[in-house]
Amino acid sequence: MVISGPSGVGKGTIVDELLLRFPTTSLSVSCTTRAPRDGEKDGVNYFFITKHEFKEIIEKGGFLEYSEHFDNFYGTPRKFVEEKLEEGDVILEIEVDGALQVKNAMPEALLVMIEPPSREELYRRLKARGTESEEKIARRMERYDYEISKSYLYDFEVINDDLETAVDEVEAILKRRF
Ligand code: ADP
Ligand code: 5GP
Repeated sequence: MVISGPSGVGKGTIVDELLLRFPTTSLSVSCTTRAPRDGEKDGVNYFFITKHEFKEIIEKGGFLEYSEHFDNFYGTPRKFVEEKLEEGDVILEIEVDGALQVKNAMPEALLVMIEPPSREELYRRLKARGTESEEKIARRMERYDYEISKSYLYDFEVINDDLETAVDEVEAILKRRF
C-alpha cells in the first residue's frame, strides 16, 4: 500500500497507528539525501545517504522508484520492500511521482491519498509540528496543489479530519475491505 498526501497532513501519524494495530505490516524505509531532523535516526526514519551514494544505487537499479523533491532525492530500496513483502503487507509513505512509478512496477499496489479537511488546517498542522522554517512551510504549501491535483490517479482518497476515523478507513483499505 502506498500512502501519499501533502506534508503535514498526518501520514506519519496514521501509519504509526496502523503499525501498532498490525505487527506483521512493515513500513518501507526510504533512502534520502536530505539531512536528518532532530530526533530522526538512520535506518529507522530514513537511510541518510549522500547524493553520490544515491546515484550509485540508481545506476545499479536498486530503487523500486525515486524522485527529486525539495532539492533532495528520495527513493525506495527495491530489495528492502521485496524482503518485507514475504512477511506481510508493506506500507510506502512517498510522494505522488514515486507512487505512480510503483503502480507501474506493481499494479497490485493500492494507492491511497490522504487529504486535509482544508488548506488552512494543513498550514496549522505544519506550523504546530514545528519542524520546518516559515520558508520551508511555504514551499510545502505550494506543493499541496500539485499533490491534490493527482488524487484522481489514486485508488482511494481519505480525509484526515478526525484521526481515528481516518485510521479506520486506511485500515479497511489495507485489509481489502472495500
Ligand atoms: P506528515 O507525515 O503527513 O507530514 P504528520 O503525521 O507529521 O504529517 O502530522 C503533522 C502534524 O499534524 C503533527 O503534529 C500531527 O500530530 C498532527 N495531526 C495528524 N493528524 C491530525 C488530525 N487528524 N487532527 C489534528 N492534528 C493532526
Ligand atoms: P520529508 O522530507 O518531509 O520526510 O519528506 C518529503 C516528501 O518525500 C514526503 O512527501 C514523503 O512522502 C516523500 N518521500 C519520502 N520517502 C520517499 C521515497 O522513497 N520516494 C519518494 N518518491 N518520495 C518519498
